[in-house]
Amino acid sequence: MKQTFTDILKKEELSRDNIITLLNANSEDSKLLFAKSEEIRLKYVGNKVYLRGLIELSNICGKDCLYCGIRKSNKNICRYNLTDEEVLKSVKYAYENNYASLVIQSGELENKAFAERINNLLVKIKKLTKGKLHITLSCGEQSEDTYLKWNKNGANRYLLRIESSTKELYNKIHPNNKKHSFEKRIEALNALRKTDYQTGTGIMIGLPFQTIGNLADDLLFMRKVDIDMVGMGPYLEQKDTPLYDFRNTLKPIEERFFLTLKMIAVLRILMKEINIAATTALEAIENKGREKAVKAGANVIMPNITPAIYRENYMIYENKPLPSSSEILVPEKNLNKIGYKIGWGEFGDSAHFCKRFKKK
Ligand code: SF4
Repeated sequence: MKQTFTDILKKEELSRDNIITLLNANSEDSKLLFAKSEEIRLKYVGNKVYLRGLIELSNICGKDCLYCGIRKSNKNICRYNLTDEEVLKSVKYAYENNYASLVIQSGELENKAFAERINNLLVKIKKLTKGKLHITLSCGEQSEDTYLKWNKNGANRYLLRIESSTKELYNKIHPNNKKHSFEKRIEALNALRKTDYQTGTGIMIGLPFQTIGNLADDLLFMRKVDIDMVGMGPYLEQKDTPLYDFRNTLKPIEERFFLTLKMIAVLRILMKEINIAATTALEAIENKGREKAVKAGANVIMPNITPAIYRENYMIYENKPLPSSSEILVPEKNLNKIGYKIGWGEFGDSAHFCKRFKKK
């Protein structure tokens, strides 16, 4: 007998076909899906939303991903590299405003000078904040030694997005060379997973050539790797990138947004205790995009605290929201209205990680 949408939502174990059905939900069925993911979210991770002040350290990148506006070959952007003083000023802002966590994100450079720079910054940040800020790094593929050193010097979490867990699709959105190897990325993720980092990954939703089956596989991949945190958002095309040539094949932007909410909801059902970020890319499509993602199951937001003059140069996709420094960065009132509250001063570590860490 054919399973109804409601039958699938009641199941303990979801098959790949079940996940595809959930991701294909129409607007009526999606209400049931979001109600289920919200119920699970409230039961397992509560109604708090944790903050990660986002510092975009540098847009200098050694790689050439075909979708990314700060790729090495793009000559139409102004490259920058924050000074340590500028970084520490943003850190101080996060510390004094009780954010409790930071993300340092950068273009990917795999060299000694970069590794040392991050080391030194970690030491300075820990000293400035007396170890009271948890730090997430998102600085790409590095050697195992570098990961371990950064971890030892104070980095608590690491986000390495796989972008697509389907090798054929990964190869279509990256140059076909050693520097952009799918296997190397998986190895780096596995290396991180073996350390004491809370390990995160993520993907883009609505890429050219991507199928709903690919997205279902991405969710199953996250579960298989037993990831602690996820940051995934809609693919937004950028005009200075090779993938822009395929813009006419894309799903309409509203569909990519809706699909992202459904991905968050299904992931929350599959991995009840992980941290899921409501990414800025959602805000680029809808004013209250992040709040909708929180309703669907996300429990982390990442207000951008990069000095305002640099933000327009970290344009990985078009129409990235660029709030001026005077604008409220945290949508607290909007979250309160929908029954959620900000976990001011709380690390908001992944409950999934805390459990597996205790098990060690
Ligand atoms: S996606 Fe990351 S690694 Fe790829 S070009 Fe952009 S910043 Fe560099």
